[in-house]
Amino acid sequence: MNTVIVTGAGSGIGLAIATKLASMDFNVVVNDYDGDAAKAAAEKIGGFAVQGDVSNEADVARLVETCLSEYGAPSHLVNNAGHVHQARFVDLEPADFDRMIAVHLRGTFLCSRAVLPHMIARKSGCVVNMASQLGQIGGVELVHYSAAKAGIIGMTKALAREVSIQGVRVNAVAPGPINTPLVRALSEEWRTAKAAELPLGHFGEPEDVAETVAFLCSDSARLYVGQTLSPNSGDVML
Ligand code: ADP
Repeated sequence: MNTVIVTGAGSGIGLAIATKLASMDFNVVVNDYDGDAAKAAAEKIGGFAVQGDVSNEADVARLVETCLSEYGAPSHLVNNAGHVHQARFVDLEPADFDRMIAVHLRGTFLCSRAVLPHMIARKSGCVVNMASQLGQIGGVELVHYSAAKAGIIGMTKALAREVSIQGVRVNAVAPGPINTPLVRALSEEWRTAKAAELPLGHFGEPEDVAETVAFLCSDSARLYVGQTLSPNSGDVML
């Protein structure tokens, strides 16, 4: 049976990914910084919750050790944990910049670094990294977020080149506007105007992103290496 670690799976897109993979009979290790959210998600989908900060090396070691003892070696990893913080560039505090890079880039690095030896030993594995189209086009007042997401795309390509010969596929997903709680909290006017700009005329749902991740995690995607797939309603065509 396949076993996946999904980070930041307590809410939003991560929860949709964990739910989808559980429905595909994956053993799911549900990580989140928010322990209650992780527990609730794990109960809902029948997975195992592990509270932890992906940017903390000891937490990541405990995450992978728990996976090994509960289910065995992870066959899949979805690096989804992240956060958004908006600030004008001139007001952007170094601490906020550092935290953004730590959660997204150091977190993706640490989790991948911790699972890769197990995947390489089995000559099989799959890593999916959550990027964002803002990492491709840049988001206004989101320099640190955009830089972190662009870094994830670069890390995905470089790692994919290095480990695909050892049986591990690494890919990224760069969603466009998705109806997450964060987006739903924005003004109705902004959401209506943004939806009207989209070639499809509507936002995606977290479940749409989960479908893309599920595809990349499946054997149907066996030729996909180092790619960034964009469920984005046609917002950006690169
Ligand atoms: P989205 O709406 O894009 O899915 P959310 O904020 O709903 O974003 O989900 C991101 C998840 O990642 C949240 O549940 C959050 O608690 C989690 N998270 C944020 N930072 C970390 C971290 N450092 N380690 C683990 N989980 C994290």
